[in-house]
Amino acid sequence: MGTIKHHLNDALLMAYSAGALPEAFDLVVATHISLCDECRARLEAFDTLGGVVLEACAEVSMSDTSLEATLALIAAQDTGSEIIAEPAKASTGIFPKPLQDYVGGDLDAVNWKALGGGVRQAVLPTTRDASVRLLHIPAGMKMPDHGHHGTELTLVLQGAFEDEDGYFARGDVEIADEDMNHTPVAAEGEDCICLAATDARLRFNRLLPRMAQPFMGI
Ligand code: ZN
Ligand code: ZN
Repeated sequence: MGTIKHHLNDALLMAYSAGALPEAFDLVVATHISLCDECRARLEAFDTLGGVVLEACAEVSMSDTSLEATLALIAAQDTGSEIIAEPAKASTGIFPKPLQDYVGGDLDAVNWKALGGGVRQAVLPTTRDASVRLLHIPAGMKMPDHGHHGTELTLVLQGAFEDEDGYFARGDVEIADEDMNHTPVAAEGEDCICLAATDARLRFNRLLPRMAQPFMGI
């Protein structure tokens, strides 16, 4: 790979590692990680450290809880249907393996709905705490300028787009929060296909690093 320039941040990787993200965000994170060796390596570090830290925070006090007990607690709580970040080589087609598994196929398995102007979207079924959709934007098309009520994660699967924050091609993920207004424009040459998750309520970008600070010495 090596060409990915826009990555997941530590807050997202920690939260993914701890199983604290909505399913919609798990899907985007797992799909990015399946394309990105760098984030997969960072995730492995959080899997050994971050999960324990976050669970310890949630348990309020670590003083009377041994490490073994904390780990047992994590193991016991880890019951959800996990979206596994497998390497991309397991996949054929445009969708990396976690997304293929989620959709039940590749592009032709998607039930697209026209939004006008050649833009199509497919809202994927997920839990109610966030939403996730596929977007198909014609090459060269400018999207409306918009802000965000929560966090928006956009992962490029085909083609590219550009906005005030940079140029995003396959594998790149843009993290937009409510402080950001942007006007994405699909690059010329190839239609842009993205996977986008939005969450209007959680503020994990701010909350999680603050929770982890005293434990990680940062
Ligand atoms: Zn990455
Ligand atoms: Zn946006």
